[in-house]
Amino acid sequence: MNIFRYLNAKGAKIPNHKELTKDLKVEVLEPPKYLYYPMAMHIGKPSRPAVRVGDKVKIGTLLGEIEEGLSANIHSSVSGQVVSIGEDEAFRGKGKSIVVENDFMDEKKKLEPLSETITPEEFAKRLEEAGITGKGGAGFPAHIKYDMEKHETEYLVINGAECEPYSTTDHRAMVEYADEIIEITSLIMKIYHIDESYIAIEDNMKESKEALDKAIIKKDAKNIKVHELPAVYPQGHSALQIEQVLGIEIKEGERSGDVGVLQSNVSTIKAIYDAVFKDDPLYKRIITVTGPMIKNPKNLMVRIGTKVEDIVEKCGGFNEGERLNISGGPMMGKSFDDLSLPVDKDTTTLLFLKKHLIEEEKPCIRCAKCILHCPVSIQPIRISNAYREREYHLGKPLKSESCINCGTCSYICPSKINLLDDIQKLNKELEEKDDE
Ligand code: SF4
Ligand code: SF4
Repeated sequence: MNIFRYLNAKGAKIPNHKELTKDLKVEVLEPPKYLYYPMAMHIGKPSRPAVRVGDKVKIGTLLGEIEEGLSANIHSSVSGQVVSIGEDEAFRGKGKSIVVENDFMDEKKKLEPLSETITPEEFAKRLEEAGITGKGGAGFPAHIKYDMEKHETEYLVINGAECEPYSTTDHRAMVEYADEIIEITSLIMKIYHIDESYIAIEDNMKESKEALDKAIIKKDAKNIKVHELPAVYPQGHSALQIEQVLGIEIKEGERSGDVGVLQSNVSTIKAIYDAVFKDDPLYKRIITVTGPMIKNPKNLMVRIGTKVEDIVEKCGGFNEGERLNISGGPMMGKSFDDLSLPVDKDTTTLLFLKKHLIEEEKPCIRCAKCILHCPVSIQPIRISNAYREREYHLGKPLKSESCINCGTCSYICPSKINLLDDIQKLNKELEEKDDE
């Protein structure tokens, strides 16, 4: 163990609670009678409905067509019939949504098979057709990233660190689909002329490492390396991870592509495998259902569009008591009340916690912990003070916009000051000022 890696690593050591689901094999959840597809499942513009009420669909039928610019295709995850197109609530807010009634026939419509030799342009086109978006939580359309990075890419970094507590989605993907992950990684390297690839994991993910190492030996893919990072939150953040793995710093305003690095989440890589080798668009995903308030925590393979309540039922319902529902992890996830929301392409985790009374905020004791642990080296308490004193103009010199919203400062603060909330509100003020 290299002790300097630990000393250099900012962020915080936080309990990971992964023991609830990390050894549980992914179970298949049979799709329900009705599936709900919000047209906003990704960053950018919502998709445009490509079907009409009454249309027959198969698994893989295009339901939502990509809009120009940043957008993505959306496909049906069951066979059946379109029964409504209207407005519905979703994790990304209220918007256009398509409802499909499942006929339980599971008929499939595959993508056209690819030729043996694929150019970067054809590869990006395939990702576009298949509606691949980042499955780690950000929902960035993958075809745009892979099209932008086709020139001068030196490294591929696959993010399997899954640093959010409780989540075991990526971990199970690596344990159960290691061969597929190595197969598609090798192909991407060939298409993009990349010599070195790294799969970044935390150093407590023993089973993931074993499975990947075995698959690398089997494929004789010596230029793919499993890179262990210290288990310090937030190792999953893209820029921090690239710096840790390659020693390359990504400066403010730069993308990973600007420094010759192509980066994808490991579950996205598995979805790319399905699109390239199985001609399947993205219509299902692994979800971790976990936390002390769910009766039987599980890792489930779920069709996109399944409502949270159907998933909860499969897990035996809830334990007694007041509950806090979170989509994603406890650090960066979003709380929600409505159990009729459908899972979308980047729903990684459904976390059900006990609702504790919110601890009362106390005055700052000037311990500087928030500053010492901030992974991007800004000063959370000074930004928070600037917000509370309405000195919004201090946001820029204090680099509040560099905040990656990881929540470490709020978590670590002994006075329970919700620093992240203040920082986000100040950044909103700055954004609004820029728009004026
Ligand atoms: S200021 Fe932002 S980046 Fe720094 S610890 Fe707080 S939430 Fe994370
Ligand atoms: S961690 Fe909390 S108490 Fe310590 S300096 Fe920051 S805001 Fe103040």
